[in-house]
Amino acid sequence: MSGATMAAGRLDLMLTELRLPTVRRLAEDVCAQSDREGWPARRLLEALLEHELAERETRRIDRHRAESCLSPDKRLSSFDFAAVPNVSKAQVMALADAQEWLDRGANVLLFGPPGVGKSHLVCALGHALIDAGRRVLFTRCSDLVQRLQAARRDLRLPQELAKLDRFDLLILDDLSYVRRDQAETSVLFELIAERYERKSLAITANTPFSEWGQVFVEPAMTLAAVDRLVHHSTILEMNVESYRRRSAQAAQPAQPATRRGRGHDSNAPTEQR
Ligand code: ADP
Ligand code: MG
Repeated sequence: MSGATMAAGRLDLMLTELRLPTVRRLAEDVCAQSDREGWPARRLLEALLEHELAERETRRIDRHRAESCLSPDKRLSSFDFAAVPNVSKAQVMALADAQEWLDRGANVLLFGPPGVGKSHLVCALGHALIDAGRRVLFTRCSDLVQRLQAARRDLRLPQELAKLDRFDLLILDDLSYVRRDQAETSVLFELIAERYERKSLAITANTPFSEWGQVFVEPAMTLAAVDRLVHHSTILEMNVESYRRRSAQAAQPAQPATRRGRGHDSNAPTEQR
């Protein structure tokens, strides 16, 4: 074995030990370039470490995206803001770009009937925040309530709530579908109270606050939950016709009005979430 090969082997081992996989992968090429171009030693060192840092950041963001449970294709770039004229694109972009609201534990609440793009928009916002280095978890509200309920049965609700603390934004999709069960909804209240003014929530709902009494059962708890949620919040009202239905209509060939009416339902894409 030549001296050069042995030295390369030792370098490999040291870089593995130090957990610098990118430097290890690039060392040979970048060192060769440095020799060819006569770089000062500091430039070589900086070039290698810059690569390592950049790849670390990419891997971190990939990990955050994988743990987020966000639909991969629901992005801001594929959201048609023209379809929801009462939602300000500038306001949504500001939430995506400047994330000081996450540091204050402020919330985003999206209201509107089914199919208007609430889940899409909130996922898209989640992706943008992950790109900016934040941690996000998307869950159906009813799934999370079940999970917290199970945790409470096993006397580990505080630990389960603490686990959710590592997420800067917790997205609860479809609050209105939570089952009306007193024990379940009180865990939802506990979650809201626990995160109040500390960690953000984004909630989608197809019923207005006035009907949340059916989710929380007890009027005082409903009031207390709504109060905390709206205290620091951006509310996006998406009261338009279903995007799904409109897309299905647009895809229909021109037909007499009576037949077209029947065709919509059979051609409408199924509910995704
Ligand atoms: P909601 O959560 O309000 O029920 P979704 O977000 O699930 O609605 O939207 C239904 C479908 O229509 C999804 O496939 C979504 O990507 C699409 N969609 C809804 N609104 C828009 C929009 N403004 N631009 C692009 N796609 C949209
Ligand atoms: Mg939805």
